[in-house]
Amino acid sequence: MYIVATPIGNLEDMTYRAVRILKEADLIAAEDTRHSRRLLNHFGIDGHLTSYFDHNKSLKGEYLLERLHDGANVALVSDAGTPCISDPGYQLVRDAVAAGISVVPIPGASAAVTALCAAGLPTDSFTFAGFLPSKQGKRREKLTQLRDEGRVVVYYEAPHRLPATLADLLDVCGDRQVVVARELTKLYEEFVRGSVTEAMASFATREVKGEIVLLVAPAAEMPAAVDPDDLLNRYLADANLSFRDMVSLVAVETGIPRSEIYARALELRNALT
Ligand code: SAM
Repeated sequence: MYIVATPIGNLEDMTYRAVRILKEADLIAAEDTRHSRRLLNHFGIDGHLTSYFDHNKSLKGEYLLERLHDGANVALVSDAGTPCISDPGYQLVRDAVAAGISVVPIPGASAAVTALCAAGLPTDSFTFAGFLPSKQGKRREKLTQLRDEGRVVVYYEAPHRLPATLADLLDVCGDRQVVVARELTKLYEEFVRGSVTEAMASFATREVKGEIVLLVAPAAEMPAAVDPDDLLNRYLADANLSFRDMVSLVAVETGIPRSEIYARALELRNALT
């Protein structure tokens, strides 16, 4: 079984090997057969396509394994990029490996690595976190779990959710350095690099369109001189400053998330009464 990467936008990113393997395959399992037919037509590949997507993967997986057992060469493609990476395929690969079928990767584009290599953030090690949940509560939970991650975190995100995700990121993780990589390899490819607030400002006056990878840098090391407790104690003694303004001020001055400063400020205030 061949796991065949296809372009994430620019068709020139198709590899010679991918074209040959798809031409030679007895069966091409595709997420969306109409979409993949257009790709195959472009490269003059007259392959036999069958669908393999999230909702038919159990049944179709059994069928594909039978064909593989009978000696067929099966190639798996997704709509774009590398199959199994936030795309269907993992269960099929797992079951094929368990059944002793050889699984051959045909490498090519994947949006996560494409974004990372040009982002300008550390690349020595990183965490790929896939899609963030669409519901705000779950999304904030996932952001909280990854808040203390010491490596760059790479997320996939839908364009219409980007503004809400950046707002949650600011609240949960503070004003980190981020890169929004949009429409990679396509006509309107764009990298927005800066703090979360700068990224929010960049998208505030336009509709966010296209496909997006969001990369989040780890929290910057806190300068030893800025102790949040010191600042909070000083500001708590200042009758002219509201509790809310104090929390915002200390969050900005220390780079620590507002929610954490809020909780600590409550503790310190309660200890004073
Ligand atoms: N398997 C694919 C891969 O290897 O990158 C990912 C498939 S996942 C269903 C689709 C998501 O990948 C999009 O919502 C977007 O977050 C990201 N993506 C795919 N193509 C992209 C592109 N050209 N530019 C930016 N992000 C892209």
